[in-house]
Amino acid sequence: MIEPKDFIRAQVVADLDSGKHARSVTRFPPEPNGYLHIGHAKSICLNFGIAVESGGDCHLRFDDTNPEKESQEYIDAIQRDVEWLGFKWAGPVRYASDYFDVLHDYAVELIKLGKAYVDSQSADDMRANRGTLSEPGRNSPYRDRSVDENLALFAQMRAGELADGSCALRAKIDMASGNINLRDPVLYRIRKQHHHQTGGKWCIYPMYDYTHPISDALEFITHSLCTLEFEDHRPFYDWLLDTLAHVLPQPSSVVTVWKKVGAAAGDSTVLPHPQQIEFSRLNVNYTVTSKRKLKQLVDEGLVHGWDDPRMPTISGMRRRGYSPEALRDFCARVGVTKSDGVVDVGMLEFCVREHLENSAPRAMAVLRPLKVVLTNFPASEVKAIRAARHPNHPEMGERDIPFTHEIYIDSADFEEVPPKGYKRLIPGGEVRLRNAYIIKCDEVIKDSAGHITELRCSCDLDTFGRNPEDRKVKGVVHWVSASHGIPCEVRLYSRLFTDAAPDRGDVDFKTFINPQALEVVQAVIEPSLAAAQPEERFQFEREGYFCADRHDSQPGKPVFNLTVGLRDSWKPGA
Ligand code: ATP
Ligand code: MG
Repeated sequence: MIEPKDFIRAQVVADLDSGKHARSVTRFPPEPNGYLHIGHAKSICLNFGIAVESGGDCHLRFDDTNPEKESQEYIDAIQRDVEWLGFKWAGPVRYASDYFDVLHDYAVELIKLGKAYVDSQSADDMRANRGTLSEPGRNSPYRDRSVDENLALFAQMRAGELADGSCALRAKIDMASGNINLRDPVLYRIRKQHHHQTGGKWCIYPMYDYTHPISDALEFITHSLCTLEFEDHRPFYDWLLDTLAHVLPQPSSVVTVWKKVGAAAGDSTVLPHPQQIEFSRLNVNYTVTSKRKLKQLVDEGLVHGWDDPRMPTISGMRRRGYSPEALRDFCARVGVTKSDGVVDVGMLEFCVREHLENSAPRAMAVLRPLKVVLTNFPASEVKAIRAARHPNHPEMGERDIPFTHEIYIDSADFEEVPPKGYKRLIPGGEVRLRNAYIIKCDEVIKDSAGHITELRCSCDLDTFGRNPEDRKVKGVVHWVSASHGIPCEVRLYSRLFTDAAPDRGDVDFKTFINPQALEVVQAVIEPSLAAAQPEERFQFEREGYFCADRHDSQPGKPVFNLTVGLRDSWKPGA
């Protein structure tokens, strides 16, 4: 059941209730010129969410009208990301380029209606004559070309007889309009460019603003949801579809498209008119959500590819260990409104933790190992300790943790000169080893440079699974057997930018890159973790959530990425 929990869903519900539409059809229309980021996740959750909730359809349509910036790599990555987020598009993967014949034929119809003309002004003149927000534009000297002349010139454009940039097809609307988007917008330009889907078939390519409404209408989209910057483009969206509603019978290319997807429509069907509705973009602090800027980071080698775990791309967050459930929860909490704002990245991390708290099994890993010799625990003995994988989910089972004469603890869990209130191990002090015994530090061994190389401790063998009666030992630390633990590369990630608004524009966003956003450590992990499968997520006790890297993990030898630490100050409602 779809709930009217935001203004867009309320509109969909109203249109279903009134019978305006029998079912909703939405679409997610990425341009394949980069990988999807967290902002796209919001649009995906909205468009596919409405389909899931209302029993409607959501299409995946590549908006591929700029072949020089697009590639198959991006097309494949975008499909992977949508599926990973948990959504399935209705019907085939669609491409705006599937409609190039239709777009061309409608352009010819617009020329015949006297609503489009070929302009031979240079790009500079076109720009100069467009006017400004306060000044009207000036008509092109080519604006009054006859229909026949325009048809002939457009045919020449299409046939490749005219040079790139020598002319363009423009709509004939109103050069004095207060809305610049209605000042005879360009519909087609010449680009002698190979296209990843249509190959060498075309040397003219339609503009986005012309392509989008027609693609929506051809697919019988009911609600065309886009971000607020398209609000000023809506009058052209509506003008175009209102104008094309007069084109009957439909060009045969339209009927061919409809036949191909099994639509019950023919040459006397009036082109439908979807409703464009705008919502605010998702902005997240400490984050950049622009494909162009993310591409710069990749191209300049400032990160290791689009799916680098530091990247706010869907594939980067996936590799880092964020779950699809967490991303969907985040998008639901952010909601859909018309007001622009910036969401705290802490809220995203909160959602990631929330999901992992209950779904990630526990394990022990020592990130910065310090050797501890347990002087009274026999060197030949291996005690097999069984511990639950999750304190609240016995169904997750147990694992074996070998306890031995030599173990590692984290070097941060020992202080020779402890700060006030320090509850972990100190010379002469005691601490509990998680799942095992209480130990006491008897001796600190150092090398000639004065660095601590080893601790010698004694183990209170009466304290396995119970507390001593004569004293209270407060601290608990995690540990791993030195002889049975497995060396492991662990990548510790933090925020990619040091500034809350790296994107604000007055300074190059790259100056805010955090050089400490990646630290690689050689850790030691408990033996059960050797079986971790790529993308499996764990809570390393007392450290945070970690995910086995999907590319670099080998069977029996995982590499772990820090997903998120255990705590942050951000709270819902904060
Ligand atoms: P970018 O500015 O990062 O290049 P874009 O808008 O050009 O993004 P598209 O591929 O055109 O990227 O976007 C596909 C869909 O995702 C569009 O409907 C767009 O409005 C939506 N979208 C893109 N960025 C955001 C965002 N930050 N928040 C919400 N929706 C977004
Ligand atoms: Mg775009």
